Amino acid sequence: MIDFHCHLDLYPDPYSIAAECAAQNIYVLSVTNTPSAWTGSSRLGHDSHRIWTALGLHPQIAHERKGELPLFENLLSKTRYVGEVGLDGMPEFRRYWPDQTMVFARILEACARAGGRILSIHSRRAATQVLDALEAQPDAGVPILHWFSGNYRELQRAVALGCWFSVCLSMLNGTKGRGLVGKMPQDRVLTESDGPFAQVDGRAALPSDTDRAAIALAEVWDKPADEVREQLFRNMRHLW
Ligand SMILES: [Zn+2]
Repeated sequence: MIDFHCHLDLYPDPYSIAAECAAQNIYVLSVTNTPSAWTGSSRLGHDSHRIWTALGLHPQIAHERKGELPLFENLLSKTRYVGEVGLDGMPEFRRYWPDQTMVFARILEACARAGGRILSIHSRRAATQVLDALEAQPDAGVPILHWFSGNYRELQRAVALGCWFSVCLSMLNGTKGRGLVGKMPQDRVLTESDGPFAQVDGRAALPSDTDRAAIALAEVWDKPADEVREQLFRNMRHLW
């Protein structure tokens, strides 16, 4: 199983979730919301070579944590993975837009200077603006749009810009999400849980729920589930 966007450090008992991932051989991109959380969160991956910890600065708290940008830039040489970063256009976060765009631009610039990174990107109600920022920094690395919810035109533009996509079960349960997933290039898709924020059956989503996402993908793509699981592994290996 592959969970390419999970907030491992935000579960009530992150060590037991990490141990479960290790026991089940789940590949996890453990994203963080602040640069100051990165070092502690990295310890969750010490017992597994399948858990990678991404360095992040979440757009919803960009205004509070912009002072951690120098720390972000210092830590960037220690990891190939960046996330969660991006922009959030919901009304309650829109008021901090200048901070959000400044932080995201600085992060992309730092990634480009560092030779590129694999980035897990939030783009809720801000797909066009995220794509504008990516277009302005083509050397930032490989952008993976997590839980993409833009429109078809934005999807086409993202594909043309070389974006990848990580998709969760909630997305695959909705008509709009299934429509988008059906139009994504199959060799640029990975699964994610977005736990513990996303919900599955009324509880926090777990990394092990990503196999259900793979099965749902198989339905949308009209392929056997095993073929889809193999495709997902090929995709992940391609990123290494
Ligand atoms: Zn997230």
